[in-house]
Amino acid sequence: NVSVALFTADLRLHDHPGLRAAAEARRTVPLFVRDRGVTDAGFAAPNRLAFLADCLRDLDAGLRERGGRLVIRSGDVVDEVCKVAAETDADEVHMAADVSDYARRREQRLRRALEAEGRRLHVHDTVTTAVAPGAVTPASSDHFAVFTPYFRHWSGQHLRAPLTAPRTVCVPEGVGSEELPSRTSIVGLSPGLATGGEAEGRKLLNRWLRNGITEYENLHDTLAADATSHLSPHLHFGTLSPVELAHRARQLDGPGAEAFVRQLAWRDFHRQVLAARPSAATADYRTKHDRWRSARTAREDIAAWQEGRTGYPLIDAAMRQLRHEGWMHNRGRLLTASFLAKTLYVDWRIGARHFLDLLVDGDVANNQLNWQWMAGTGTDSRPNRVLNPVTQAKRYDPDGAYVRRWVPELARVEGPLVHEPWKLRGLDRAALGDYPDPIVELADGLARFRRGRAGG
Ligand code: FAD
Repeated sequence: NVSVALFTADLRLHDHPGLRAAAEARRTVPLFVRDRGVTDAGFAAPNRLAFLADCLRDLDAGLRERGGRLVIRSGDVVDEVCKVAAETDADEVHMAADVSDYARRREQRLRRALEAEGRRLHVHDTVTTAVAPGAVTPASSDHFAVFTPYFRHWSGQHLRAPLTAPRTVCVPEGVGSEELPSRTSIVGLSPGLATGGEAEGRKLLNRWLRNGITEYENLHDTLAADATSHLSPHLHFGTLSPVELAHRARQLDGPGAEAFVRQLAWRDFHRQVLAARPSAATADYRTKHDRWRSARTAREDIAAWQEGRTGYPLIDAAMRQLRHEGWMHNRGRLLTASFLAKTLYVDWRIGARHFLDLLVDGDVANNQLNWQWMAGTGTDSRPNRVLNPVTQAKRYDPDGAYVRRWVPELARVEGPLVHEPWKLRGLDRAALGDYPDPIVELADGLARFRRGRAGG
């Protein structure tokens, strides 16, 4: 018999329940479809396409070591899977469960199309999450809207044991495949973009567990220390398994490991919210809000924010890191999101879109729901708090090293004024070159936000 293992956001060989199940068949087709639907949905940003190309090359290399290869097709995912299943006379297809509206519709369409041809679709959970959405629920709802009780239940869940990679994968002869994509043909990449692929992810993970995780609790919020795992793109593309990460971190014990596992639970938390409320990708989740400044009315402010030219050094540093690396530190994401949605009072969807255009880990659940959290429309229990980019900068970048790294105009400013360059005088001020004055007074931004929230 023949099975198809359809890869989506699970581009790995280790701890892959669907691949392991498919590899039990006499012949297996490891298939990836460059899905037209993803491009049509505006989700094919250059940074993620490049990382994806690395992942596919690496997946193919890993399969070849096991006697197989990756089959790549392009088009509508349902049509392509059905074609491959018909060509190889496969009786079943295995894929991972996923949470977005798009992923759920894809699964339904695929199930119907396969069943019409007498084939079965097996959907595996705990591939893209450690705990499946819906596995834990409160008494009165289909999902948790608050993280703390979710985390209590999440922590009490038994995690399945991680699986090893299959030893051999035997692909039927004659199945046609397109060429592997390559990042070199993709334009508009961030120059400091990370490398994708399971081998790279496992290297990063091993290094992180050996050297980084013990200091995570102390340093994860210190911007200049850059002491977080950087595993987010690997979790997004599934080159690493959240189940395996949770197991291996728990084995280490200690406050660093605990804090890290808690972040993995945040990831599952957002996924269970999106699974239950797919509309939260675009519509306000809890508090409806319709007074935002629009793309038209706030055009100049939005451009300054995107370009890292707001005159608030920490905001600008973080936005420039995003552009340069396709990645941003979590504290930077919190501050830049608060600044756009609250201080500039711009619709959070505009900021979320810009992040998705650049983030290599850009992820519907994590991005949209974290944006909603910061905009005060989501799951934050203090929706009206506004982060002050100056006091936060002094707390999380106390020496100014992060700002100096990313904003060269300020590289020579000594001491704490690096966070308030508008207070410099005379020659020191002139030395800033064309670094802008603040585009908004924080007090004015706060007043506008409060007026808006009060409905005035
Ligand atoms: P670590 O600190 O090492 O954390 C380990 C893992 O836990 C991360 O890789 C991630 O998978 C998960 N995690 C950490 N923080 C969060 C969080 N707040 N919510 C959910 N999961 C978390 N994360 C994305 O993966 N994709 C996004 O598109 C995304 N957009 C964001 C937008 C905004 C406005 C904000 C405030 C946060 C966003 N995050 C997003 C969450 C978080 O900032 C990143 O996951 C984290 O910075 C990635 O770096 P890391 O892998 O070094 O994280």
